[in-house]
Amino acid sequence: MRLSRFFLPVTKDAPADATIISHQLMLRTGMVRQNGAGIYSWLPLGYRVLKKIEQIVREEMDRAGAIEMLMPTLQQADLWRESGRYEDYGQEMLRITDRHDRDMLYGPTNEEMITDIFRSYVKSYKQLPINLYHQQWKFRDEVRPRFGVMRGREFLMKDAYSFDVDEQSARISYQRMFAAYLNTFSRLGVTAIPMQADPGPIGGDLSHEFLILASSGESAVFCDRNILNVPPPGANFDFNDEAALSDEFARRTQYYAATEEKHDAEAFAGIPEDRRIEARGVEVGHIFYFGTKYSAPMKAEVQMPDSGLQTIHGGSYGIGVSRLVGAIIEASHDDSGIIWPAAVSPFDVGLISMKPDDPAVGAAAEQAYQALMSAGKDVLYDETSDRAGPKFKRMDLIGLPWQMTIGPRGVKEGKVELKNRASGEKLDLILDAAIAHMDKD
Ligand code: ATP
Ligand code: MG
Repeated sequence: MRLSRFFLPVTKDAPADATIISHQLMLRTGMVRQNGAGIYSWLPLGYRVLKKIEQIVREEMDRAGAIEMLMPTLQQADLWRESGRYEDYGQEMLRITDRHDRDMLYGPTNEEMITDIFRSYVKSYKQLPINLYHQQWKFRDEVRPRFGVMRGREFLMKDAYSFDVDEQSARISYQRMFAAYLNTFSRLGVTAIPMQADPGPIGGDLSHEFLILASSGESAVFCDRNILNVPPPGANFDFNDEAALSDEFARRTQYYAATEEKHDAEAFAGIPEDRRIEARGVEVGHIFYFGTKYSAPMKAEVQMPDSGLQTIHGGSYGIGVSRLVGAIIEASHDDSGIIWPAAVSPFDVGLISMKPDDPAVGAAAEQAYQALMSAGKDVLYDETSDRAGPKFKRMDLIGLPWQMTIGPRGVKEGKVELKNRASGEKLDLILDAAIAHMDKD
């Protein structure tokens, strides 16, 4: 992509109401445009990141055996009257009336709708377990939308819903999502710690929030440092191996990790002092077993082998896809700007032509652009006539993992300069070696 033809409205300053760094950086780099309180347009640079996150989430859900679908944003109030939540949900629900005076709502979540779909088609225990998911925009009329996309009103969520015959089987479905989340966040280039969360009325230990540590986080968190050293299950993990699922679960839950609401000061004090972490975190995911909370009132039942009817046991599993864009920046930036983890970066490499008017430099930059693209790289090519200083600043600000610079000195020597955005390391290499070097780490 040639920068001169791209839409990248970079600005020098962020508005004063952008109080946290990710919000400031997202506005300054022209990733998003605020259209109203907690409502954003995703401009081209931001949209690329959002799509990358969505795709990684999709691949990891699919790998764990969940099945993708898509439910609408608008829902009928009647479904929510069946579960009792139409009244309970309160002011966060955006209620709408259509021209026929039917009560509708913009979905804040989809338990009722998926339960309705399930009960309409699934009749036998033989079809279970099943896990259906989608990635769809939600609306929650938050009292105080803030921190940019991290607490928006309209936001993109991945939500999955599992259906099992009983609690024991639901536990396995839960552990499957637990393992899938660890792989997902690891691929996204962040450390998200599973923490005991409020299980609601059912009780039990099957409610975890996944939090990324960041000073601007809204939740106070407490954990044992050792939990950070447990590696993710990895790409070869067998999601059908029930013993492996329960091992993965136990390997982490043996260490203390809880948010404020579930914090047990006494248990925490029992951890050796140098291992105690007291910090703040951003919730990027929440997995939850809720038993028959929706299936009982909505009559989602399956025929059992003894021909009796069994009310199914459900769980729901959310990931804040749009929130993650901000959360990743919170966890990965420096004074010069964003530092994208390679997997979610809007481009793989930024190519800077220092003097596009100089025929030798211009030609070398064009050659590098073609070679990078032939090597399968997604390139943002700054061939604008801006001065070199501002070009470097802008490239640092938007934070692509690699920068390749073509300047008069290098052209004479037949070399390009390759800079690693995270480490700041610069190498003078011939073009082919520079491209090969980008694949090394
Ligand atoms: P929070 O405690 O942050 O309000 P929640 O517990 O209400 O979130 P869930 O219902 O568990 O959220 O939703 C699943 C995920 O959706 C959350 O883990 C979070 O990452 C994301 N999410 C929730 N509310 C918002 C929001 N207002 N803006 C952006 N993402 C959100
Ligand atoms: Mg939650």
